[in-house]
Amino acid sequence: MAVLDIVLYPEAVLKAVAKPVKKVSAEIQRLVDNMLETMYAAPGIGLAAPQVGVSKRLCVVDVSNPQEGEPLNPYVLINPEIIDRAGKILWEEGCLSLPGLYREVQRSSRITVRALDRQGVERVFEAEDLLAVCIQHEMDHLDGIVFPDRLSLLKKKLALKEWKRLREKKLEDDDEGDEAQPAE
Ligand SMILES: [Zn+2]
Repeated sequence: MAVLDIVLYPEAVLKAVAKPVKKVSAEIQRLVDNMLETMYAAPGIGLAAPQVGVSKRLCVVDVSNPQEGEPLNPYVLINPEIIDRAGKILWEEGCLSLPGLYREVQRSSRITVRALDRQGVERVFEAEDLLAVCIQHEMDHLDGIVFPDRLSLLKKKLALKEWKRLREKKLEDDDEGDEAQPAE
């Protein structure tokens, strides 16, 4: 397995609508494994293929808290669809492609998801609260949407202005050494 490079907003791949996965091949499984390793290394609670430069409809999510002794609980979602949603929730989100930027975003609080798993088997399951938020955030990436796109126009403008500053600083810092913070 390998830790992949995470692309930063506004890289074009983050704005593109990703293509469905035609077959859960060994190559796709390798990508899934590398994405999981990349997500845990970041550390983050979700990662979508476009964030590692691959415009395919798949993402990985794990909202468990291993620092608190919880076992890992990875979800692999290939060609995911939300088939039902209910409720509303406001959550402060971050993103590995916009590290350091955090904003409250409104999402559905309960969703029913249909997706293929790592073996290519179709799964239907319900998710709520943080897991639901995280899956909706990652699925947005598959449609070329990042979380500031979910804000009002003014809030989005301010958020992207802050991100521009953060990005410049990060690119400077990365010349000197690595830093990481939890995000999606
Ligand atoms: Zn993200």
